[in-house]
Amino acid sequence: MLPEIENLLRLQEADKEIRRLQEEIGELPKRVAVIEQKLAGTKAQLDKAQASVKADEATRRKHETTISDLRGKISKYRDQSLDVKTNDQYKALLHEIQFAEKEIAATEDKILELMLNADARDTQVKTAQAELKSETAEIEMEKAAARERTAEDEKQLAQWRARRDQMRAGVSEDLLRHYERVSKFRGSGISEVRDHKCMACQVMLRPQTYNDVRTGQQTVVCDSCQRILYFNPANEMQAIEPEQKRSRRHHPKIDAPQAWYYRQEYGDSGEVLLCLANAGAQASRRVFDMHTGRLIGDILIREGDYRHAFPEDITGAIRLNGHWTEADMETWGIEMPMTALDSLHGDLEAARHEMNAHPGKSQTPAAVPTEQAAS
Ligand SMILES: [Zn+2]
Repeated sequence: MLPEIENLLRLQEADKEIRRLQEEIGELPKRVAVIEQKLAGTKAQLDKAQASVKADEATRRKHETTISDLRGKISKYRDQSLDVKTNDQYKALLHEIQFAEKEIAATEDKILELMLNADARDTQVKTAQAELKSETAEIEMEKAAARERTAEDEKQLAQWRARRDQMRAGVSEDLLRHYERVSKFRGSGISEVRDHKCMACQVMLRPQTYNDVRTGQQTVVCDSCQRILYFNPANEMQAIEPEQKRSRRHHPKIDAPQAWYYRQEYGDSGEVLLCLANAGAQASRRVFDMHTGRLIGDILIREGDYRHAFPEDITGAIRLNGHWTEADMETWGIEMPMTALDSLHGDLEAARHEMNAHPGKSQTPAAVPTEQAAS
């Protein structure tokens, strides 16, 4: 790999980290602002509750004044009643007194109602005060954490910026300009090549371009996305690894109470998956369409274990890995779920791969007794 390319790779890493840190630093005040807004809401609620308490107290004082005024009136009427000359005058005064007494009783009721309300108001105030206290503590903690995080981010940012400048110094001006132009539009300016593809835009490279990248003697850019390309042999090796893993396919057990098979042809049905299972002294057989997973025909039951009950189905079939309980399969209805079908397809592919890799050793679709092949 060209040293310039190595510098560009580290530069890209630094650029990415700088962007991340800047975003994080920008996010922290927003988080604090959200809690501050909540705090303002609680404060407003507390103010409202406290204002209600004050308003109630004023109303109560007004009612008390009304009562004392009415009492004053009553005692005045009583005094006057001593001096009245006629019965009518006396009755009129008595009427006034009764009227005032009724009004006193009504006002006393209103005071009582306010006193009952006062308890609820008091709870409201106390709840809001407690909320305010915990939210204030929370915001102080959040602010402290944000300050700490920001300071740490700033420190790292300075380090990454210094590293970035160092890397930039190790790249030619033209290449750097190209890198920055592409980075600005695409978010990254350099891309790895794997399996003949640009990993950033997933476009296949022309053979000549691919060879140029692999040899690593000159800088090459992707025709499609313009990113500067590089090749890492270590990663190309990793891509091959899953192929090797395949050969370690788990082999189905010969004495399993349930066995899955693949057949290339099955009467008029073409490719099918068979599920043979033992249940007590009987064996069952289900036939599924290989591509849709739909159940073909009815479930067939015969006496004896499946090996003796369905020998014609087993001979020449490819044994597959797969096990589902009878209860599970009953829930499938007339079609097996995609997960089950995918798993069987995957295992068939692995079995075929194995057969190609070790043709002498493995089971083949030809008339080889499958029991031997599976052991
Ligand atoms: Zn590309």
